Amino acid sequence: MTPEEFRRHGYAAIDWIADYYERLETFPVLSQAKPGDLRAALPPHPPEYGEPFEQVLADLDSLILPGITHWQHPSFFAYFPANASGPAILGDLLASGLGVQGMLWATSPAATELETHVLDWLAELLDLPARFRSDGPGGGVIQHSASDAALVAVLAALHRVSGGRTERGGVGAERYAVYTCAHTHSSVEKACRIAGLGADALRKLDVDPETMTARPDDLRALLDADRAAGITPALVVASVGATGTGAVDPVRALATAAREAGAWVHVDAAWAGVAAVAPEFRYLNDGLELADSYVTNPHKWLLTNFDCDAFWVADRAPLLGALSILPEYLRNSATESGAVTDYRDWHVPLGRRFRALKLWSVLRWYGAEGLRNHIRGHVALAQEFASWVAADERFELAAAPQLALVTFRLAAGDDATLELMRRVNESGALYLTHTVVGGAVALRFAIGSPQTEHRHVAAAWHALQASAP
Ligand code: PLP
Repeated sequence: MTPEEFRRHGYAAIDWIADYYERLETFPVLSQAKPGDLRAALPPHPPEYGEPFEQVLADLDSLILPGITHWQHPSFFAYFPANASGPAILGDLLASGLGVQGMLWATSPAATELETHVLDWLAELLDLPARFRSDGPGGGVIQHSASDAALVAVLAALHRVSGGRTERGGVGAERYAVYTCAHTHSSVEKACRIAGLGADALRKLDVDPETMTARPDDLRALLDADRAAGITPALVVASVGATGTGAVDPVRALATAAREAGAWVHVDAAWAGVAAVAPEFRYLNDGLELADSYVTNPHKWLLTNFDCDAFWVADRAPLLGALSILPEYLRNSATESGAVTDYRDWHVPLGRRFRALKLWSVLRWYGAEGLRNHIRGHVALAQEFASWVAADERFELAAAPQLALVTFRLAAGDDATLELMRRVNESGALYLTHTVVGGAVALRFAIGSPQTEHRHVAAAWHALQASAP
């Protein structure tokens, strides 16, 4: 594709995306595709000769769109949002255009330095403790996902608690434990498995039935019992905005107990953390000055296309100790000078995309004020939705609403609640998902699309009311 051809097809592709956003509401939110539909419609073999790009765009409409669940639809209320926005899409396109692979500072100094800089900006916007900024021993990095962040937190914690044995002998002969709440995201258990600790190394704290949060007294008891049995506490993970209910663990109390036991403290605020752009939500940051690492995802609720997970450490030494490795072919004078950051040492893969460009683009386009408005608008809508649920005697709130997440159910029980979800999702008018709270099914209504307005939330509520027995 010559630059001139690229220009022509590029305009067409941008037009296609702009048109897509204009007609988003005409699509059923949840794809109505059946298993195998797309495979059956695709040619069984790859083309022998090149095809015009127009054909790809045409197939996007006829073949791909029917198999798309529209995450950017204003009536998408499932899971947590995966925000996209114009400036992020353009930033990502520019990163693709540059096509750099920023594994080392030397392989594109701007890719590294912009990443360090925007993560300092984001730390400032969220009012995170100064220890996460890059001007001291700490600093931030963009990971692919919060699951990757959990994994590198486990690896850094093991490195620190074993006195560096992850580098040579490994930690196989020792016994280590990781502690988290039963409601914590499954990525922590996965990280334990990948790290070779196994799921049995994970201790799940009881959930307080009143607050739906982890109990610090339970953590203390488990830490004591393990130490008495010769097991070393490696890591405590606290959730700020747990996936099921949005519950916020008592980070300060958990971190205090963890530190006394010598364990690393990781705070997972994958969805909720970005809300701290608005000062009234900075209670979410309570106790973070005691954390060793912190994660929040601009790719969930801060207008930045997947993937963009912001991960900070208070001290980068254990992270680098766990992950850095320098084969001859990567040696270069900038690395050897010690004056630069090589982000390949901060995550699992070697190669890395220039993801900072889209975050930079978002922060500049919206500014702090625009980001605050984005979050505040959704929280206000969720509060109103929760008040409607509370006022209809057929429904009940399953947990206290948190930020832009409302968990609720039908008083008629699990089967009726699941049937209600099935009906509204199949209608294509909205999409929401479920969880279990206090042993009973609950629906999760997570508001987060930049396209969502009051009328969409009101229409969703009317659809739920109309389908409820
Ligand atoms: N942590 C929490 C609290 C989450 O809600 C999620 C996903 O919803 C994750 C971690 C995993 O996020 P990712 O998809 O970035 O790995």
